[in-house]
Amino acid sequence: MGKMRAYEIAFVGLKPGIHQFNYELDDKFFTEKGAKDFSNTKANVKLLLDKHQGFMLLTFEVGGTADVVCDRCGNPLKINLWDEFKVVVKLVENPDEMNNQEEDPDVFYISRNESHLDVSDWLYEFVILSIPMQSMCSEEEKGGSQCNKEVLNKLNEMKERHSEQQTNPLWKGLDKFKKN
Ligand SMILES: [Zn+2]
Repeated sequence: MGKMRAYEIAFVGLKPGIHQFNYELDDKFFTEKGAKDFSNTKANVKLLLDKHQGFMLLTFEVGGTADVVCDRCGNPLKINLWDEFKVVVKLVENPDEMNNQEEDPDVFYISRNESHLDVSDWLYEFVILSIPMQSMCSEEEKGGSQCNKEVLNKLNEMKERHSEQQTNPLWKGLDKFKKN
């Protein structure tokens, strides 16, 4: 596995208490990890690491922007990334076993001997989770829907033609014929 050193935190050297880390993530970071549904990404993640004896509480505050395409018409859309995620990292003797047993996705175990924490997978996952599942041009914007009118018209034409076929008596007759 290619380690992304820039995203490793040497937590052993940190004093107990809250420490802040900032990450600026662009397309390169996401495409290297396999993402392809968005582009022009300018994600910034503020990570607060609260170090305690035996565990750490991580809070990821996701912000920034990315470009996606409208689900309805394919127009490019700029969206704001905004969300917050928490992870508890516990230091234990048997992290593999504990990770297999743990059902809470927000709890993660590492070895007591570990000195570094790689947060790149979390950064990736949490930014992706900040992107809405469905993105569409806004209806409320002045001038009505920002959707690509040409594409919408084509879609409507196709729908109309389809329903014409369904209501056309000739086709209805054929349906009956088929059933008999
Ligand atoms: Zn649209």
